[in-house]
Amino acid sequence: MALIVQKYGGTSVGTIEKIENVAEKLIKAKQAGHDIVVAVSAMSGETNRLIDLAKQISDKPDPREFDVLVSTGEQVTIALLAMALKKRGYDARSYTGAQVHILTDSAHTKARILDIDESRIREDLEKGRIVVVAGFQGMDEYGNITTLGRGGSDTTAVALAAALKAEECQIYTDVDGVYTTDPRVVPNARRLDCITFEEMLELASLGSKVLQIRSVEFAGKYNVKLRVLSSFQEGPGTLITFEDDEMEKAVISGIAFNRDEAKLTILGVPDQPGVASQILTSIGDANIEVDMIIQNIGDDGTTDFTFTVHRNDFDAALAILEKTAKELGARQVKGDNAIVKISLVGVGMRSHAGIAGTMFKALADEGINIRMISTSEIKISVVVDEKYMELGVRALHDAFKLDQAPAA
Ligand code: ADP
Ligand code: ASP
Ligand code: MG
Repeated sequence: MALIVQKYGGTSVGTIEKIENVAEKLIKAKQAGHDIVVAVSAMSGETNRLIDLAKQISDKPDPREFDVLVSTGEQVTIALLAMALKKRGYDARSYTGAQVHILTDSAHTKARILDIDESRIREDLEKGRIVVVAGFQGMDEYGNITTLGRGGSDTTAVALAAALKAEECQIYTDVDGVYTTDPRVVPNARRLDCITFEEMLELASLGSKVLQIRSVEFAGKYNVKLRVLSSFQEGPGTLITFEDDEMEKAVISGIAFNRDEAKLTILGVPDQPGVASQILTSIGDANIEVDMIIQNIGDDGTTDFTFTVHRNDFDAALAILEKTAKELGARQVKGDNAIVKISLVGVGMRSHAGIAGTMFKALADEGINIRMISTSEIKISVVVDEKYMELGVRALHDAFKLDQAPAA
């Protein structure tokens, strides 16, 4: 019998009625002859509510206790879902991450899954039970509860699918697949039948929250067949696959955007070896990740240096940079946290020239100034002022005609 792992996100289990709906869907899959393991998120809004409680105690809550707290959201859902299944005469068992030995490292709030002991799940499946597992959480080698970062239930599901060698991992959410961009921002965004792991990974890392980055990495690494589908309507969803000749021949497959960005500039530092390293080492030492970097050389022997960080790190990074500026005798430090990054992603960029030109023209036609640019083999990212985010994404979606299926 084929084993399928399903995952239901927060909105899909947001009310008792929706949890009952999930129970019905699971029963249908069971009746179709599948063994079913299901990972669930906390009811919508619950994780945010818990985080808010912690923040009322402290700006920087203790990470271990933070994980004990925020992991409770998922425990509520597993119990309710198992009850709903049992009420319908189906045998089910709910488990926290620790109970099914989802072993992680000890990096609280962003732990990585190291191993899953699937023996207990297998025993239940053999008895005909539907196994309901709390997403987003695990346990480290010392028995501490850990959580996997926002959106982490996706990764729980994929890790379970990998450990159990499931036929497919189905991510049920509030959209019916992966779109050319967030359909909430571009109403005529188009659902993709399939997308490559490589592209999905870029989209996820550049800000598309439909799948957690690590879930895509994990699925690619362990060859898990991964599909995104709607909890509320029937349909084929989107399959994440390895590249093959049958796929749509789009040059651009999607647009991602990220509001969590902030930009810092240090002006008038000496143009000499070691300066870039001095600036970035002090930022790195504070555990702040730097994303884009640009440097402009002036003709007076000085240079300006600009980089972006996560918006949450803006204040800390600015304080560090002010200090470095004094040490280097820099002219000025500037910061801007009202910026966004918009990125075009597509494996077709490898074989197509001129994409950047079309992108920059589309933005210019809307009067949108580009503040920073970065490119890689399959993506081009620009930083623009936050107020232009929606306009910019829509303009690019139109310019590349992403609402239309590419010609075969
Ligand atoms: P869940 O709670 O089920 O995990 P998420 O909110 O994490 O759901 O992810 C689904 C949301 O991702 C959608 O409602 C949509 O707004 C957003 N999204 C962003 N980019 C895309 C995209 N390219 N395709 C589909 N959805 C996207
Ligand atoms: N409940 C967690 C969150 O809101 C994990 C998840 O939903 O995937 O981020
Ligand atoms: Mg999610």
